[in-house]
Formats: sequence, C-alpha cells, structure tokens
Amino acid sequence: MNLLTPILQIPNSPINEERAGLLGKYFSIVTVEDLLFHLPYKFLDKSNIYPLSQVVNWVGKEAQFLGTITKVQEIGVGTPSKRLVTYFFDDNFSIQLVWFRYPKWLVNSLPLLKKVIVYGQVLEFSGSYSIAHPEISVEKDKREVGLQPVYYTSEKLISRGINQKLFRTAIHKIVFHPEFNLPSFLPEYVLVKLNLPQKLQAFRSLHFPQTLLEREKSLEMLKIEECIIMLGIQHYRKLGRESNSVGHAFSTKTELFNNFIKQSLPFPLTNAQNRVIEEIYQDMSMGKQMNRLLQGDVGSGKTIVAFLCMLIAVGNGTQSCLMAPTEILARQHFASLEKLSHKLPIQINILTGSTKKSDRERIHRMLHSGDLHILVGTHALLEDPVQFRKLGLAVIDEQHRFGVAQRGVLYKKNEIPPHILLMTATPIPRTLAMTYFADLPVSIIDELPAGRKPILTVSRKDKNRPELYAFIRDELRKGRQVYIVYPLIEESEVLTYKNVSQGWTEIQSIFPEYKVEMLHGGMNTDAKNNAMASFKNGNSQILVATTVIEVGVDVPNASIMMIENADKFGLSQLHQLRGRVGRGAEKSFCILMASEKISKDGRKRIQTMCETQDGFKISEVDLQLRGSGDVMGTRQSGSIEFRFLDPAQDSEIVELSGKILQKILDNDPNLQHPDNEPLQRGIKLKYKEAKKWSKIS
Ligand code: ADP
Ligand code: MG
Repeated sequence: MNLLTPILQIPNSPINEERAGLLGKYFSIVTVEDLLFHLPYKFLDKSNIYPLSQVVNWVGKEAQFLGTITKVQEIGVGTPSKRLVTYFFDDNFSIQLVWFRYPKWLVNSLPLLKKVIVYGQVLEFSGSYSIAHPEISVEKDKREVGLQPVYYTSEKLISRGINQKLFRTAIHKIVFHPEFNLPSFLPEYVLVKLNLPQKLQAFRSLHFPQTLLEREKSLEMLKIEECIIMLGIQHYRKLGRESNSVGHAFSTKTELFNNFIKQSLPFPLTNAQNRVIEEIYQDMSMGKQMNRLLQGDVGSGKTIVAFLCMLIAVGNGTQSCLMAPTEILARQHFASLEKLSHKLPIQINILTGSTKKSDRERIHRMLHSGDLHILVGTHALLEDPVQFRKLGLAVIDEQHRFGVAQRGVLYKKNEIPPHILLMTATPIPRTLAMTYFADLPVSIIDELPAGRKPILTVSRKDKNRPELYAFIRDELRKGRQVYIVYPLIEESEVLTYKNVSQGWTEIQSIFPEYKVEMLHGGMNTDAKNNAMASFKNGNSQILVATTVIEVGVDVPNASIMMIENADKFGLSQLHQLRGRVGRGAEKSFCILMASEKISKDGRKRIQTMCETQDGFKISEVDLQLRGSGDVMGTRQSGSIEFRFLDPAQDSEIVELSGKILQKILDNDPNLQHPDNEPLQRGIKLKYKEAKKWSKIS
C-alpha cells in the first residue's frame, strides 16, 4: 500500500464500493493520500474524566464525567418541544441529560443506575446544568483515553455509512499498517536535531494524537518539510535561470543617462533610489536576462527609477516599455516620462485600448523601425501587432495586477528576452517574499524623498461633518486640493455610481465656490481623462471618485484624502489611497469616515491606519486579517500549493526553514550526499508538480 493506492484497496477497512463512490463524490477522496489529508477538524478530549461537581468549569466546552443515570422522562408534545430528559448524578451533584430528537428505542435502552461515562458539551440555563445529546458508555465496557478525532461529514452521508467510525477505522488501518511506508523528505539528521517526528509518525499523530502538544510537533514537521522543499525549488529555479538565460548586456550606463543626471534631474535622488538603480544596472550588464522585483512604498519614487533604467536601455541601442494596469495610470506615467525627457533626443509614446487606429498604426510602424524608444501603455502592449525592433527592458508597474501569462507575452516580444523589472507598491513582508519570490532578486527603496511630512490620519463620524467641511474649506483657501473617495460596491455598479454621484452633488452644494470633478469606472475614457486632467492641472479643486484613483495617481498639490465608509476598504487599498496625498511639501491629512457600527476587522483596519504609515507594518496586519492566499493572489503562488504551511501565520517556520536549507546547501550544494537524498527526491518530485510555472514568475 502506498499513497496512490485507491481507498477501496485498504485492507480490512469499512470502505466498500458504494462508500468509496460517496467519498469520491463529496470529498474528492480517491486515494490513500486523499484520505490522509482529510484531517480531523477537532478532537474529543477523552483523556480525563471529571467529577460532576466540576461541571461549572466546563460550560460551553466538551468534557467527560462519571456518574449514574436515573429517571427517564419524556416531556412536551410534538417537535420542537418534545424531549427526553434524565438525571445524571454522583455523590455530590446532579445535572440533566437531554435529547431533542431521538429514536424510540433510546427511551428504554439507557443504562440506568450503572456507573457510566457521559461525554458532551456542557450547557447552563439559569444556574442549572445540562448536556444535550451526550455520548454515553458504561464504565466497565469501554474506557476511552486520549484524543478522539472528529472528521467533517454530514447527516446525510452518515446515514449512508460515511460516519466517524469509518474515517477513524480506515485511517487507522492505513497509518498502522505494517507495510505502509511514508518516507520523510527531511534528512534524518535534521529531524533528530530539531526533535521532530518522522513523517509517518507525524501523520499518525495528526489523526490519533496522545496529546495536543504531540500533534503540534507533527504539524510543525510537516510545515517545515513543505517549506524547505518549496524554498529548495525556488533556489534551483533561480540557479537555472541565472545559468541559462541569455540577455542583453548593457555595458555602460551611457551618455544619455549621464547627461540626464547632470543636466535634467528635477530633484536629487535619495540614497535608496541611487542604490537600487545601481543594483538594477549591475544586473542588466551581466549578459543574462534580468528578472527583478522593485519594491518601494507608495510615494518612494519608483517612477524616476524606472525612467532612468529605461534610459540605460535606450542608450544601449534597445527599446523599452512601461506597462501599467489602468489607463489612468498609463496616462500619468506617460505625462511624467514626457516631462522628464522633453530635452532628450528620444521618442516616447503611449498605447492603450482607446488609442485611435491611425495613431496606433503609426506607433506600430515606429516601434518596428526603431524610431520609437519608449512605449508606455496598458495591456494593449501585449497585442500581437506590437512588435519592437529590439526590446531591451520591460517595466511592469503594479505587477500584482498582471498574471504570469501576461508577463510571459512581454518576455517573448524579442528574440533575446528583454530584462524585466517588476514594480510593486504593496510591501511584502519578508517571510512572504521568501516564500513567493525567493527566486527573484529584490531591490527595495526603503526611504522616502526628503521633506515629506507625515500624513495626519484620523477617524471621524457623521456628526463631525460640519467641522470637517470647515477644515477642508480652510485648506482649499490655501490653494490645496482634496480627494473624496467612495467604496466600490462589488455587487452593484449601479449602487456604486449612485453613491459617488450623490456625493458629487452634495459636495458641490457644500462647496459652491469650488469646481468639483467626478471620476468612476463607469465613465467613458474621454470623460475620465478630462476629469483627471482638470484635477491634475488645478482647474478643479475637489475630486470625488471611486478607487479608480487608488494606484499611482500623482497630484502633489492635493493635501487631503477623505475616505467615505473607510471600513469597507481593505488595508492595502487604504494605504494606497492615503499615498495619493503627502506627495508635495505641504502638510497632508487623511480622514477616514466610518459609522459607529462597524465590524471588528473594519475597526482594526482603521485603527492600524491611524497608528502607522509604514507600509510593511500595514501589510503585516493585512496578512493577519486576510491570510496569505488573499494577499498574494493565486497567480503569485504559481502552482505551489501549501497543505500545512500558511506563510502569513507561520513566519517563524519560514525563517527557520530558510536557515536550515541554507546550512544544508552550504555543505552540499547539489544535495548529493546520501544523507540528503530524501530532500533531493522531495524537491524533484514537487518541482514536477510546480512546473506549470512560467519562466518569469
Ligand atoms: P511611487 O513610488 O509611489 O510610484 P512616484 O514615483 O509617483 O512614487 O513619486 C512620488 C512623488 O515623489 C512624485 O511626485 C515624484 O516626482 C516625487 N519624487 C520622486 N523621487 C523624488 C526625490 N528623490 N526627491 C523629491 N521628490 C521625489
Ligand atoms: Mg507609482
């Protein structure tokens, strides 16, 4: 018997053909492996038996008590009031046992006046205690000890034999079968050193633990195993990529770059910006294709870094593109890049879904001939007719909004694959980055441009509106601009629109002396562009919008971000939105509006925003609240699936696993030592499963 054995072939198990069919249909359990991964969702603690006098300590919890049953009574008529009640007592104390729906035979089959063990959840109603639907066993018959697993199933399935006993027996038959072998992928010496169980033992105690502590230890072993294998895969993938992939070798930063730095740089770069440019340049000069992640909190100045890297590419005789997830963002990048390059001898253009046909064709031609040096755009860049003469660098902004496949298309736009720079403003906690991006080198801009003042963030309620509007008016008088953002209502575009347009009308009546623009996803492209342009060049002072402005929008004169129903937004969204202000030198404010009645998570999000502006701290809290799957998105994890590890919660295990693997590889880089053979086997096996990964992740 092995992991792939069909469940029907488990020796002496209660799984017959019909039940195997049901298990397959309702739980996708087909093989021994599937069954082992059907983990108990709780355990009944049968390790102690308590005297009834202690029942008070167990209200709301399950426990086992020793006593005697007497006086069986049926009370009430008809469901739901009809019930069966008995008294359960010992020398000092008595409680009731109650059944609401029960088979007739139960009435006469309760073991009266014998010592029995009763198990169940203790309930309390005005000072008297009871257990509903208890498990009862005669003391002498059966004295169960240890923890009993409870598996997920349903009443309907139980009536067809898929009950607790079936799961317990079948799984017991597997993990205690003398020929069942489940080799660990972790080398023996690692297990010994960390005092961890073997894998088979770990599975035994996942299902049948003696103590919860033992189960914890087993879980830890399985998590570490999973994590080390995943890190191992990333390690070899990275090595493979480094040794295989030929790329453009940009041998100098070029005159173009140097002249720009000397003559046209609009502000001195921060140390962090200089450092990451150096890192990226080094990477692009090696003759190997670069895949690098550039992380920097909102407002840290990634755009100019991207631009300077693009200049290096252009100076070296290649072309460059910058892809953004939304049209608004693409337009804004285009505007910034145009401004930065207006004195330079290079051609820049923009291509989006709304580019006119004639312009589009001209852009295609110029790209093909090499006369166009930098192309900014949206997904439209991926289309087939977009052919570069020689694409040297592709920058992808807000990379998490694109899928692996889309990036793969860019990768193939040139015979020699272009260098790829992924940019993200969503800070990724270290351990998550280790698990999801370990195969990508990362550059981090960990410093904001000088002169930024902290953004004062406050939480306010409806009753505060009069004073808030007075405050906003003061700021407007000083010449500042204001964003007011409404949540997207996911179920209904109509409702979202209604909220925003109501807000727009209201704000216009409150601030009649100012021009108020509206911006939301349902508007057509021209209307959107006009609204954005009017706000950006200062024609309008207030922008009422949905989260379409969430990413990247850059209007340094805006100093107030007011967010309506702030509790309806995710943390990283709030952080991104707040990042729209505090970009100029003015003191900026973020006002989070929320009603009294908000969820616990909503409260936590708002509190976090008021307490910190550090994107890394915020993303840690976000992870705690949401879990890593949601934060990273399934696209990010490729096909690596964790069954035990949760990178969001298990950061210590990720750190530990990283250290262990590093030590192993330091001594044995190719895992050739016989002691490391299990790990090599595990990595190979899982690598095959994960192979669907595209070349660039
Ligand atoms: P993000 O990293 O969020 O994309 P941007 O590139 O949009 O940030 O930059 C935010 C703002 O800071 C822009 O207005 C930009 O011109 C400005 N900026 C960037 N780098 C510097 C710097 N070194 N000194 C001063 N201002 C800077
Ligand atoms: Mg940006």
